Amino acid sequence: MPNRKRKPKNTPASDVSGEDDVVLRETAPLQLRYYGDPVLRKRAEPVVDITEAERQIAVQMLETLYATGNGIGLAATQVGVLKRLIIVDIGEDDDETYEPLVLFNPEILSAEGEAFADEGCLSIPDVTAEVKRAEKIVVEGIDVQSEFVRIEADGLLARVLLHEVDHLNGVLFIDRISGLKRQLLKDELLRIQQAERPA
Ligand SMILES: [Zn+2]
Repeated sequence: MPNRKRKPKNTPASDVSGEDDVVLRETAPLQLRYYGDPVLRKRAEPVVDITEAERQIAVQMLETLYATGNGIGLAATQVGVLKRLIIVDIGEDDDETYEPLVLFNPEILSAEGEAFADEGCLSIPDVTAEVKRAEKIVVEGIDVQSEFVRIEADGLLARVLLHEVDHLNGVLFIDRISGLKRQLLKDELLRIQQAERPA
């Protein structure tokens, strides 16, 4: 999910120093999949075993997210990997700073309240629409250290988590708006679907 307020955070590998630079040099951003790609409509499979390969995908997804300059969340489905894995980095919200979050097999345990806000999606560039979501949620999953985590989230964090978990079920935010609103976006969606992109 994109958020225009966000500044680019990606750092060229040559400028990186410290312990993390090895990881950054060994990985590369992944190819984003766009609206019209059938993979976005598939249901992702649970991750049975979190191995180095899965962690590597998570790191590459973070890089892919940061390379967009405005992304705040990404599901593995969006890079063509049908595994239940999402990453979220909302940076700051309501004066609070959040750490990047890697979550395998996320499950929404509870959802309450209603909140309306504009949403976009890195797989549906330049399209935004108001989406109704739960205001407050509890999510469980497994983090990058293979530790079980339970997250209570509200506001933007809840919205992004719900948006990304939707992706794992083949659901896009435009499925959650009215048919009339979607009709108004028809030309935009067709443009994205038919856009020529480098292979
Ligand atoms: Zn999205």
